[in-house]
Amino acid sequence: MKITDLRVHTVAVPIEATIRHSNGAHHGRFIRTIVELETDSGLVGLGEMGGGGASAQASLEALRPYVIGHDPFRFETLWAKLNNPTASLYNDRRQQHAALEFACLDLVGKHLGISVSELLGGRLRDDVPFASYLFYRYADAATGASEVRTVDSVVAHAAELKKAHGFASHKLKGGVFPPQHELDCYLALAEAFPEDQLRYDPNAVLTVRESIEFGRAIQHLTTNDYFEDPTWGLNGMRQVGAEVPLRMATNTVVVGFEQLATNVRDPACDVILLDTTFWGGVRRCIKAAAVCETMQTEIAVHSSGELGIQLATMLHLGAVLPNLTFSADAHYHHLVDDVIVGGKMEYVDGAIAVPTGPGLGVELDHDRLAEWKSLYDEIGGYAYDQDPGRPGWVPMVPQTSFADPARETAPRSMRDS
Ligand SMILES: [Mg+2]
Repeated sequence: MKITDLRVHTVAVPIEATIRHSNGAHHGRFIRTIVELETDSGLVGLGEMGGGGASAQASLEALRPYVIGHDPFRFETLWAKLNNPTASLYNDRRQQHAALEFACLDLVGKHLGISVSELLGGRLRDDVPFASYLFYRYADAATGASEVRTVDSVVAHAAELKKAHGFASHKLKGGVFPPQHELDCYLALAEAFPEDQLRYDPNAVLTVRESIEFGRAIQHLTTNDYFEDPTWGLNGMRQVGAEVPLRMATNTVVVGFEQLATNVRDPACDVILLDTTFWGGVRRCIKAAAVCETMQTEIAVHSSGELGIQLATMLHLGAVLPNLTFSADAHYHHLVDDVIVGGKMEYVDGAIAVPTGPGLGVELDHDRLAEWKSLYDEIGGYAYDQDPGRPGWVPMVPQTSFADPARETAPRSMRDS
């Protein structure tokens, strides 16, 4: 089998509201770049990539000479072509590789008539549980989706998501407001949902001292999954972990094998969050999970914002990892639509079924694709690292200029930015 064509599409798919994080916000939509690889056998494989509010189309189209003529079965060759460890010092293509690897996995699965999880070792589970992934958010001018800012609104939002999707674990995305306010929110979640698991992730903006104070204030809870990137860096994480009896988790400072080796030799993080794009593909996540299994380092499945194609890679990954014991993260429930046939996948009791069809088990809905491509053409991308409600503000690590939780914010439309 040889790849004969590469097609790339950029889409803007609306989310329910502008959701806030330590670096700014997702401005009312996700910008995702969709890849189609066609082969001489007529099969089409699907891939997907993010880009922090920007299209990755040009960077993927630039890889046409590497991809045309490639045999999708040659996974290690594709990695070496794009990410030779010294050549890639000039061009880091891990995420582009991931999008192309997804499409190759899809092609190989379709060629063999088996699903990607069967190809990658065989499913251990038929569905993957997810956490609620709670964001602070601006009220949405278009949909009326309510602002999430106060303690009460965080708890109400969690209750609404739990009711709609059945989540039994909740992740509070923080780093937006001062730590004391986010701590109040976290403790209120623990009180409101005593049976559910919790995790907090301020995207590394706290100082070591603030992280230790936060950790000590939640360490009495029996429902903490882990303390995710409270502060920046392996050395910062190690200092926090030495002072608080919580599992330290990261998706920022262990996203490759060199960092993983360093973390094994001088442990700083207890839980490695495997992201099928940040790590450069599904197969690399499985390799990393095997190292972690050997070293008794825990793992979970991370979300960097996804439509159904990337969600399928997360589901197939989650299905084959023997050492997966935490629920996964997904931004997926914030979306209002998808680009796959059948529309959005459904949560049942907080979990999503692993697709069973050949390859990734999802197909492009060309009408939806056209609709969300035209929305992208109309409104374009956004700056992931800017807060639309705080013009001129610059995201810092550590953060010393948090948003004011007492200040009511104006509703925002994705067309505002
Ligand atoms: Mg994180």
